[in-house]
Parts: sequence; C-alpha cells; structure tokens
Amino acid sequence: MNDIKVMDGLKFDVMHTDNAALMHCPSCGEGYTHITGVHVGGRPKEDGPFENVIVEGSKVREHVPAGLMAMPDWPNLRRDYVTLTGWCEMCHGSFGISFIQHKGQTFVQPLTNSWSAVKPGR
Ligand SMILES: [Zn+2]
Repeated sequence: MNDIKVMDGLKFDVMHTDNAALMHCPSCGEGYTHITGVHVGGRPKEDGPFENVIVEGSKVREHVPAGLMAMPDWPNLRRDYVTLTGWCEMCHGSFGISFIQHKGQTFVQPLTNSWSAVKPGR
C-alpha cells in the first residue's frame, strides 16, 4: 500500500515507483496532473527588484510583469521563488506549487489559479 503524505493541500503517493512519488492535484486530490510552466521570481540581492521569467514548453519570457506571475502568497517575500504551474485532467483546474526561499529555509506552497494559497483541508 502506498504511503500518502499530505502537506497543506499537496498529497504524494510516496512509493508510487521505486524512485518517484506521484503528486496529486492540490485542488481535487486526483493523480492526473500536467506541469506546463515554470515561473521564476529571482532577486539578485535580498529585497532587490524581481527579475521575472516564465518558461512554458520551449518558450522563455523575460521581464514578465508581476501581475502575470504565479507568485506565492507570502508576507515579506525577500528572496527568490520558483513556481511550477500546471492543470488537472480531473477537475480541469489550474494550480501552482511554489518553492519559497525565506531566511535560509525553503517552503513549499500550493496555489490555485489567480494565485492564492490552497487552504488546508481542501
Ligand atoms: Zn484536480
């Protein structure tokens, strides 16, 4: 039987294969998701201006306006973040999974489209 890990809206079948976990949709919990993009908000220095980049397929967009970025819902975001974006075959919803650098630690936050945090218990 697979071991299920739940992390504020993110679930993984830890033993899905010998060396990979199956990620479930942060919105509906089903296991049929597609990763389609990477949003990077890089800061050359702490509290510096963001250098926003989006990679979707083979296309790279630089200098992306902040309003188009899948930005984490994080107070006092002072460093870099990376968000994987995707969609779900079952609920047809879009989602993001942000990795947030904060004070020497890395946090992971699932997002729903319009890019707000998925609340635990969904
Ligand atoms: Zn779903």
